[in-house]
Amino acid sequence: MKKLSLAICVILITSTVYAQQPVPEATELYVELQKVTPGNGAGAPSDAIILFDGNDLSQWQSQKRGLGASMVDMKDVIPLLRAEADGEDAPWFVENGEIVVNPGTGYIETRQGFGDVQLHIEWLAPPAEGKSGQLYSNSGVFFMGMYEVQVLNSYENPTYNNGQASSVYKQHIPLVNASKPVGEWQTYDIIFMSPKFSDKGTLVSPARVTVFHNGVLVQNNVELLGPTCYIGTPYYVAHEPKLPIALQDHGDPMRFRNIWLREL
Ligand code: MG
Repeated sequence: MKKLSLAICVILITSTVYAQQPVPEATELYVELQKVTPGNGAGAPSDAIILFDGNDLSQWQSQKRGLGASMVDMKDVIPLLRAEADGEDAPWFVENGEIVVNPGTGYIETRQGFGDVQLHIEWLAPPAEGKSGQLYSNSGVFFMGMYEVQVLNSYENPTYNNGQASSVYKQHIPLVNASKPVGEWQTYDIIFMSPKFSDKGTLVSPARVTVFHNGVLVQNNVELLGPTCYIGTPYYVAHEPKLPIALQDHGDPMRFRNIWLREL
């Protein structure tokens, strides 16, 4: 009888242990993924919003509200920012399928507001005699109208490193200088994660940015301190979850083409 009990015990323990053995299928997940057709080369994927495809500036308007140079100027303006598509037409040019900055006419911004995005944009710094530093082909991509990834000729054109091409302006120096010479087209592929605020306006999570410049990683998920400030130290001020993306008029005839994004 004892032997029988022992045998039953062994069988029970063995079967229990066997039942607890992991099987590979237990860690294999199945979900219904949205299908996206990738673009060819620089082409946009099938789920992208096209912001400029070479034809016109219908997705853009004259920037409704500028922010100023320091937090003193910005702090009261930022809460008032809205995505409103009824602005005046963008006063920049379209030539040969390219956007050209019309110097002195101000920033342009998307008619639509965006939060978290993957953005592709191509830009060209034209050659300019006698220019240097921040004044040699300057523009910028301003996410939500206030968080700038710098556009600048940074090929053999020294300036402060947290203000060169692909810097998060005055916040993050790029990991390397992947710039091409003036007159050549360059690409940015940027993942921008917007800051999140509580209902009471306190910061829940800061903005984060990843940038590939000409296919080279230059900003690796860096955390922003607040909006881009030319003067002084930035800090966060709560704002709408979706706001227009702006392109900077810094007085130079920069060129842009093939602009698209995917909302994340
Ligand atoms: Mg700039």
